[in-house]
Amino acid sequence: MRHDYKFLTEKKGLTASLFSPGKAHLILVSAIVAGFFLASSLLSYQADANKNESLLITPGKVAPQHIIENLPLPSEPQSNSLQLPFPVASKTDEGLVWKTIKVKPGENMAIIFSRMKISPTVLNQILHVNKSTRKLTHVLPGKKIKFQMNDKGELRQLVYQYNIANSLHIRKVSTGFTASTQERKLDTRIAHASARINLSLFLAGQSAGLSDNMTMTLANIFGWDIDFALDIRQGDHFTVIYEEIFMGDKKIRDGNILAAEFVNRGRTYRAIRYTDSRGRSQYYSPKGLSMRKAFLRTPVDFSRISSRFNLRRKHPVLNRIRAHKGVDYAARPGTPVKATGDGKIIFKGRKGGYGKTIVIKHGSAYSTLYAHMRSYNKKSRYGSRVKQGQIIGYIGSTGLATGPHLHYEFRVNGHHRNPLTVRLPTASPLPKKYLADFNSKAQTLVAQLNLIKNNTLALLQ
Ligand SMILES: [Zn+2]
Repeated sequence: MRHDYKFLTEKKGLTASLFSPGKAHLILVSAIVAGFFLASSLLSYQADANKNESLLITPGKVAPQHIIENLPLPSEPQSNSLQLPFPVASKTDEGLVWKTIKVKPGENMAIIFSRMKISPTVLNQILHVNKSTRKLTHVLPGKKIKFQMNDKGELRQLVYQYNIANSLHIRKVSTGFTASTQERKLDTRIAHASARINLSLFLAGQSAGLSDNMTMTLANIFGWDIDFALDIRQGDHFTVIYEEIFMGDKKIRDGNILAAEFVNRGRTYRAIRYTDSRGRSQYYSPKGLSMRKAFLRTPVDFSRISSRFNLRRKHPVLNRIRAHKGVDYAARPGTPVKATGDGKIIFKGRKGGYGKTIVIKHGSAYSTLYAHMRSYNKKSRYGSRVKQGQIIGYIGSTGLATGPHLHYEFRVNGHHRNPLTVRLPTASPLPKKYLADFNSKAQTLVAQLNLIKNNTLALLQ
């Protein structure tokens, strides 16, 4: 079989090619993206109503709600849904103006009040209204504070939005000031997506409405089982149930992936997120086995295969049949190489045609080899311990290599195994005490995954 070393001359990393559908790609066949999007939310929780605490400076006097009812509406229009409703000002005020200032680094409220030409006595009064005004004693740089002033330069209202969901409202009343906090609850909505891969994982994710970040998270969950650099094929498909964080109708960010299924070359992998009683979350198979393994499937991120595991291939340099007992990951020179498992460096140095090489021993049965590297990580010394995912060196083309790539070998009891297909030892499973709880939750999520997948497939046909 002819070798794919022509790919080595391409300077472009996989990251770029994943996003450029025009490029011919070894793994990805040019076809029409047939992703689809089922963005409807299944359900929503934590949908508590807005919380609004209000306290008066002098107890026993007029309640603030009472005043509000007889007052005109706020003078400033609300430009977007994230903005909080502004409290209203006194009827007798004229020429009310809102001014917004941004807190500069090193500024405190005393400085800001002096900048706004408001008396320090007013600040002192406000700080003594109630506990909520303590927020003003440590205002954060970059945050905005809104002041409403009347034509005499007197403060009528102050709004300090100290985070995306919470704001402090100060209001002038006849007796002094009132202070209240307003909280807008973030909603967690459950969304789902399903897509078939035609051009690339990221394009399929995008067509299903997933952010690239979410697609990456999905790949990381299955990254111990599936080599996303080499294993992905046209026709692979995935289904994911995930959280979206909303404020009102506006999506703020993605939440967690709750459950996912990935079908890679006909093989189905499923992952369920489970949070134990100590609040630690991990992904498990529906049987409660950890998705994490003792070894990463891939020693290089975003790389491109240049040679598959093949015991009878023609060596591109030696030009004769020579067993290729590993996998080559072509990537830009300098791309980090990661230790695939915890272990100890038992060889570091030049090794004939392998060039600059590191061999790591993992327990008594396993060892991994990384060859053709340009340079080593300073921390990878002979005899030193390495952790899974730790960078041990950088891709190069030392030894017998026609271009920059990593040659990676995986041995079990001294015998070479195909790193792409070898069964990897698993990390510890879910503790028994959680199994009953996990099973009931996993059953529901697996049923939902099946439903989403079946609906999506029906839509495609
Ligand atoms: Zn090789």
